[in-house]
Amino acid sequence: MAVPLLDLRLQYAQVKDDVVRRLDALLESQQFILGPPVAELEEAVRAYTGCGHAVGASSGTDALLAILMAMDIGRGDAVITTPYTFFATAGCIHRVGAEPVFVDIDADTYNMHPARLEECLRKKCRSGPDGRLVTAAGNRVRAIVPVHLFGCVCDMDRIGALAAEFDLPVIEDAAQAIGADYPSRGGKAQRAGAIGEASYFSFFPSKNLGAFGDGGMATCRDARLAAQIRLMRNHGMGEQYHHEKVGGNFRLDAMQAAILLAKLPHLDAWHEARRRNAALYREEFERLGVAERIVLPAEPYAASGLKNHHIYHQYVVRVPDRDRVRAALAADGIGCAVYYPVPLHLQECFAPLGHRKGDFPESEKASLETLALPIFPELAPDQIREVAGALARALG
Ligand SMILES: *Cc1c(COP(=O)(O)O)cnc(C)c1O
Repeated sequence: MAVPLLDLRLQYAQVKDDVVRRLDALLESQQFILGPPVAELEEAVRAYTGCGHAVGASSGTDALLAILMAMDIGRGDAVITTPYTFFATAGCIHRVGAEPVFVDIDADTYNMHPARLEECLRKKCRSGPDGRLVTAAGNRVRAIVPVHLFGCVCDMDRIGALAAEFDLPVIEDAAQAIGADYPSRGGKAQRAGAIGEASYFSFFPSKNLGAFGDGGMATCRDARLAAQIRLMRNHGMGEQYHHEKVGGNFRLDAMQAAILLAKLPHLDAWHEARRRNAALYREEFERLGVAERIVLPAEPYAASGLKNHHIYHQYVVRVPDRDRVRAALAADGIGCAVYYPVPLHLQECFAPLGHRKGDFPESEKASLETLALPIFPELAPDQIREVAGALARALG
């Protein structure tokens, strides 16, 4: 039995009636740019995440661009993130003219390692002439972008404490983590997108909340920053045809917003189903006696009692001899993928940054060992058993 990595048709069947109804109303209105659906979705995401302000964008990438531009981050600046993420995170930093500065990940969670961040801030960077933190290349450090990879929030208490000490804003890359909860050690649970100064989500079709095309959303705490992001999203234009700043066309389509409004009420149930699938994988791997030979995803906040302690955007295991195992699964008709095969510091386009192999060993190791297995909510238990069995056979 072949099992796809992702099959969105099963999800569409659940929301089709509402999607069609909302699209029909929009088509009748012929009002496709911003307007009520976008405003309604922004309010719904604000309420769902507990963030201060939400601004719809044309993609996750464009949401990050708008945030960086709104924070006036550009040439002469530097932004810290990890090399083990989707390209957009560092790509946007570079695109606004700033220097992407990488810190390595935690081997268990694949998220930014707070100790590596601390080393970067204390040792690799130095105090500039005006007392502000600068990189070895002389650029002023302006922000930290931790990535909540695969649907689990970073160690935001430790990252936040360092950010506060160095007076740096935190921009969460929550592209894969809408709805993911974080049990802050301060006591109050927080949700991805509502923890840092700013944050962004992606509605790429394969994300837990996916549009029928591209879409994204920026969130932030401060009303003035939200106003700047709004301005940047629409060519820096406040009053029509009066441009206060140079922004871009980063608007979320009203059609995508209408579709996402139909999907959002289902999101928590879908997260729940993904966690159920992850639990069944664990059971199966243990039953098949392979749980010790692979590394299952960490659930650092499982004991918190928070439901969305992990939303399993991806279910990623480490396996020995990854490429051989991957080929064996593919030959068995099992969909699987590698996120991500080349860490960003080794990407061709970032060669001018001067990094080499060995600079970020955990990211490099992860890129060689990890394998994502099907985890989408509509998977049947039999399909999960099939995948687990195929993996056990592939391990030999
Ligand atoms: C998907 C993703 C993005 C980019 O979002 P798009 O909507 O595809 O532009 C950024 N960062 C991470 C970690 C992502 O997974």
